[in-house]
Amino acid sequence: MIKPAQITWSDDTPISTEFDDVYFSKASGLDETRYVFIKQNHLPERWANHPVSQFTIAETGFGTGLNFLCAWQQWLKQSSEGQTLHFTSVEKFPLQKADLVTALNKWPELSPLANTLCDFYPELVPGWHSIHLPTPTELQHSSTGEVVLHLYFGDIHDWLSETTARVDAWFLDGFAPAKNPEMWQPKLFSQMARLSYANTTVATFTAAGLVKRGLKGAGFKVEKAKGFGKKRDMLVANYQATIGPVLPNYLTQPPWFCVPQNQTPKNVIIVGAGIAGCSTAYSLAKRGYKVTLIEKQEGIAMGGSGNAQGVIYAKLPVKFTTQSDFYLSGYLYSLRVLKQTLGEPQRINRQQQWDDCGVLQLALNEKEQQRQIKFENNHDLQSIIARVSAEQASKIAGIHLKHEGLWFKNGAWVYPKAWCDALIKHENISLITKCTVEDIQYGNGQWQIHCSVDREKTTIKGNNLVICNAYEAKKLNALSFLPTKAMAGQVSQAKQNSLTLNTVLCGDSYVTPIHDGRINFGASYRVNSTATEIRAEDTDHNLKSLMDNFPAVAEQIDVALGGRASVRCSTPDYTPIVGAVCEPESFFRDFEPLRKNKKWRFRQPATFYPNLYLNLGHGSRGLSTAPLCAELVAAQMNSEPWPLQTSTAEILSPNRFLVNLL
Ligand code: SAM
Repeated sequence: MIKPAQITWSDDTPISTEFDDVYFSKASGLDETRYVFIKQNHLPERWANHPVSQFTIAETGFGTGLNFLCAWQQWLKQSSEGQTLHFTSVEKFPLQKADLVTALNKWPELSPLANTLCDFYPELVPGWHSIHLPTPTELQHSSTGEVVLHLYFGDIHDWLSETTARVDAWFLDGFAPAKNPEMWQPKLFSQMARLSYANTTVATFTAAGLVKRGLKGAGFKVEKAKGFGKKRDMLVANYQATIGPVLPNYLTQPPWFCVPQNQTPKNVIIVGAGIAGCSTAYSLAKRGYKVTLIEKQEGIAMGGSGNAQGVIYAKLPVKFTTQSDFYLSGYLYSLRVLKQTLGEPQRINRQQQWDDCGVLQLALNEKEQQRQIKFENNHDLQSIIARVSAEQASKIAGIHLKHEGLWFKNGAWVYPKAWCDALIKHENISLITKCTVEDIQYGNGQWQIHCSVDREKTTIKGNNLVICNAYEAKKLNALSFLPTKAMAGQVSQAKQNSLTLNTVLCGDSYVTPIHDGRINFGASYRVNSTATEIRAEDTDHNLKSLMDNFPAVAEQIDVALGGRASVRCSTPDYTPIVGAVCEPESFFRDFEPLRKNKKWRFRQPATFYPNLYLNLGHGSRGLSTAPLCAELVAAQMNSEPWPLQTSTAEILSPNRFLVNLL
């Protein structure tokens, strides 16, 4: 559960009631941040000669975001195109947006950056929020680097054990050790060591003995520096690893989840141009990869992503699980990317390509009603998902509804083809259509994609490969172990120009507000089927669901126009399959002893296919899951901090199925 920060104000300086301490110095918070964190981590000098494409700062305690804004401001002055600052930070008691705005108003010289941060500041929902912040127009010059803010709302110790970041500089903030002993624990310093390497620096405002000893004990060389203003001392440190190397990851985590570093040139082939392939292309093109996107149909978004309206919301389990963390982060991430790629929805005409009109998940029976009550008791997500009565639901929807439900106030529908078009509009992406992949092979440091384009055989080569072609991926020899299933489904359409439905309705089925003179409703499912013809029995099924679940809508339509059938890719655990892939033969050979003895201690890394990644198995939820999964693939390929926690990446890993086969 997230508890927002309780703030009192001393003039315009925020003070935490929880910790009875100030967020930044009353006299000059801005100068103090620049001195303590930016200067003492030597960022201006390091960024002047920064050879690599990315730099990672980790901060303990995001607070008002002042440290972040100062780092971002400096980064914009010194970085150039193709370079990315990853700023990863944690906050247990996030400020409410109104408090954030008030706190940052104090610094007029930061206002363009502060306004952008406030615009993109996430809802106070637990877990990971990965945000690509646009450079404010007035600060754009010919060559500026990018910034990604990875904000974790939760406790610092959970964050540290769940992060993969390889940190270049630590901003060791947080209230004074005497006021916040829970944070300044030995496990803080040992986790910092796990995430540091030989050039990692640390700066902290405090000179407390406990911090000095903690850092030293974990392998940092610590020195006192002159404190800011009237403060006598502060601490700076470098990671030395004097106490011996930190354990390799594969001894602390199962080796099949330890994704190897990737140092290949920045080019990639992506197979499949539905929402998974297009969002993967978007994530990689933004990072400077030259992308070749291959599609067997004559255009993009013609398979599972080819419907006229897709719904974006998160169907969450009653209890908070790793799955919830994933679906919630995916949902919020998709909504951010929608806004960034399609702009604010244009409601003036009804030709719009998406609408964040909200989604009502109705409790159509007693069982679902009980589930929703338990859901509300177990989660504290009121700011984004609230229980509403039938009366409130009717008011929201603009139509009479007999059932109460959950109101996803930011939920949306989108025309997926328009979204996919916007995602791949980038000079780094070239699209090849009517290209059927027959086999993939790795040789001479490259992937060779044997395919036929308009029936002509050809081979396309690239250093990295991402397979995003859903249920067809397992036809490739290398991926025959995937337990995916094809599942055909049919959506129906009806002509409508006057329906007053303001929001998407979901229950066992769904219906959307008007788009392009039609409403869409459905869907039927045919397990283990790839048949895409329209069937009368499926149309009848959809019409019956519409009448049973949403009679006030059904009353207003005359005739179903037909619709569209497509094939989805489902997985045995209903969770997508995302990330780097182990090579099965080596896997079964190396980990054979686990068959007989589940406690066998593995001592070697796993063998992965070189630079091969998957983003597939999204079932019917790809619009809410694939864009975040694309970020995970891009982060693994580009050796960056991941956009979600390691335990969430583990439930997505393709290698979970190899373990099941042992
Ligand atoms: N860096 C901040 C800024 O630029 O405004 C100021 C940070 S303030 C001094 C310390 C922050 O650490 C507070 O926002 C507090 O809520 C957060 N914090 C304290 N204990 C924490 C914990 N155990 N886990 C995560 N955050 C914590």
